[in-house]
Amino acid sequence: MSSEMPDKVLKILNTPVLPGQSLTLSLDIARLHTHTKIEVPIIVERAKKDGPCLLLLAGIHGNEVNGVEIVRRIVAGKYNKPQRGMVICVPVLNVFGFLNQTREFPDGRDLNRFFPGSKTGSLASRFAWNFMKHIVPHIDYCIDFHTGGASRFNYTQLRIDRDKPECLDLAQAFGARFIIYAPNRERSFRQAAGNLGKSVLLFEGGKTLHLDRSVTQAGVEGTIRVMHHLGLRDFSKEIEQFHKVPKPVIVKKSSWIRAKYSGMYRSALKTGTKVHKGDIIGTITDPFGKFQSKVKAPFDGYILASNHHPIVNQGHALVHLSEELA
Ligand SMILES: [Zn+2]
Repeated sequence: MSSEMPDKVLKILNTPVLPGQSLTLSLDIARLHTHTKIEVPIIVERAKKDGPCLLLLAGIHGNEVNGVEIVRRIVAGKYNKPQRGMVICVPVLNVFGFLNQTREFPDGRDLNRFFPGSKTGSLASRFAWNFMKHIVPHIDYCIDFHTGGASRFNYTQLRIDRDKPECLDLAQAFGARFIIYAPNRERSFRQAAGNLGKSVLLFEGGKTLHLDRSVTQAGVEGTIRVMHHLGLRDFSKEIEQFHKVPKPVIVKKSSWIRAKYSGMYRSALKTGTKVHKGDIIGTITDPFGKFQSKVKAPFDGYILASNHHPIVNQGHALVHLSEELA
């Protein structure tokens, strides 16, 4: 064996991945209480030529299906086959939650609050640790796909670290309408991967257990633009056919407008809309036709997310509004 050999042999999950190879590996870490083994498919496509490695990660939260659909469409369309470098697709990381149609892991924990995890910790923590050990060292970039939780519908947006210009560059290449400077959640995947020098775009679009065509289309087109931008593959022809994206709105500060009263909530405006101070964004009523209160925009901004739950209590988050633009 020549001394160069060890560098040439890339191994993921103890499996050699040769230049030009396509593989579906399996991350099988935990078993259910029925002793059923749960396997998480890891779809690896390595080009013959060297280049960067992009991870497309969906389903950290098991009920956030728009991301699962975006990665599925990338794989089904064979867009994940690079001309340079490597693309790793994980359509559903939290297979457990996906089976149960819940956000959480079977131990009741939110996987995205357990990174980088520990070898001897809780089930979610061990799972996070294994993902960080076996997959993350191979990647340079990641798009981590999420949706709004608790009946909140997010307009397609990317969340990035304010102090990482390389993430802003990538977000602009993606072509999302909104780019939001959002601090990292403690112990999230984005924070743990960011600490290792990986550039992570956090995609948010739509709401849980709901497939939205405009969100998934924006996700697929954006992902392909990012691959093109990173030089993984020439997608010039495909990109010509895509929706034209206006210059992104970069949001430095945003806040939630909350319900002053409990009642039934009807939203008056679509997400993505620009509102001016005093515009009516929704109405809260009682069920008996006696009480009605209009919810007004307290300042100018874009509607980044909107509550879709019909019944709200005082303090319920109704609309996520941009407050300060870059
Ligand atoms: Zn999520």
